[in-house]
Amino acid sequence: MEVRIDPWDYRLIQEYDKLFTVFGIQPIDNIPRRELLKHHFFTRRIIFGHRDFDKWLEALVKGEKVIVLTGFMPSGTPHLGTAMVFEELKYFQSIGAQVKIVIADAEAYAVRREDRDLTIKFGLEFVKHALAWGLNPEKTEFYFQTAMREAYYRLIQMFSRKITMAEMEAIYGDLSPAKVVSALTQVADILHPQLEEFGGFKHVLVPVGVDQDPHLRLARDVADRFEGELGLTRPSSTYHKLLRGLDGNKMSKSRPDFAIFLDESEETIRKKIAMALTGGRATAEEQRRLGGEPWKCMVFELYTYFLLDDKELNEIREDCLKGRILCGECKKIAFEKLVEKIREHKKRYMEINENLAIDRIVRKPSF
Ligand code: SF4
Repeated sequence: MEVRIDPWDYRLIQEYDKLFTVFGIQPIDNIPRRELLKHHFFTRRIIFGHRDFDKWLEALVKGEKVIVLTGFMPSGTPHLGTAMVFEELKYFQSIGAQVKIVIADAEAYAVRREDRDLTIKFGLEFVKHALAWGLNPEKTEFYFQTAMREAYYRLIQMFSRKITMAEMEAIYGDLSPAKVVSALTQVADILHPQLEEFGGFKHVLVPVGVDQDPHLRLARDVADRFEGELGLTRPSSTYHKLLRGLDGNKMSKSRPDFAIFLDESEETIRKKIAMALTGGRATAEEQRRLGGEPWKCMVFELYTYFLLDDKELNEIREDCLKGRILCGECKKIAFEKLVEKIREHKKRYMEINENLAIDRIVRKPSF
């Protein structure tokens, strides 16, 4: 059976192992320089795969020019799934990388049919939330796609010359004109930092959720075809598992009842955690006897991704498996930890909102 990933689809990817065999993503376990990968996203295999990440790390260690580039769709307030990328970017900055962030307003307008003014508003909100999560403004540059100029748009035209519709459909499935242009724009986003007009050659790493891999595959193909003409090399990439929504399906802005947003009120968090899918048993007696099933539990997923260190996580897992804790009590702990995290984030957001000279770090559209 044909297997395809659609970056514009909302469904959840479950079978991560298939991505190694079908798409050639490499397991993160085999990477050298593991001493640089201490973040729990690596040690807990939340970042589970890569393409040429070893080459990018080697370049970083040798002191060559490296950059981390990723993009966001400005279509609403960021949620914890988005914060995963903030967290990764923060980590890459801590080991020495500069970061460039695309605000994909052209794509939001064309593919998602978002209102133009709202995409600008949400894009600027993204910037503030990213910095509130801890990105270093001195090492971060943001740009809106529609604020870019000729050299960037010339790339999109050039790339269209060496890609056929059949190749694009093999990667993306059914396409509309808006999706074709958006995909080529994403490739320009990924490859343009290597050009003289944008500071000259550098090694580019793109950390993404695995649903965005089609853009990486296209960008790598395009880089090969323009190696001679433009001096492009393939970008590297890392892939994280997608944080699931509280019902076990994909966390998405289009399903707000099952996502935790970074500006969420405490009362709403309480209600959402209360209805979250768990791996608990039908009755308290059964759970005490059989233990819970944390691998099925969205509360345990929140613990694993954001809320607990290794020791605490291990204790909760053991308590759950042995039936020493019931879901009500466990959810109360998760609620308190999550509220604390969101409260701190909101405080930093308010400080940034008051003090940030946004024009200094964001390239905005001028119309
Ligand atoms: S006890 Fe906690 S970790 Fe275990 S299934 Fe219930 S909520 Fe999930």
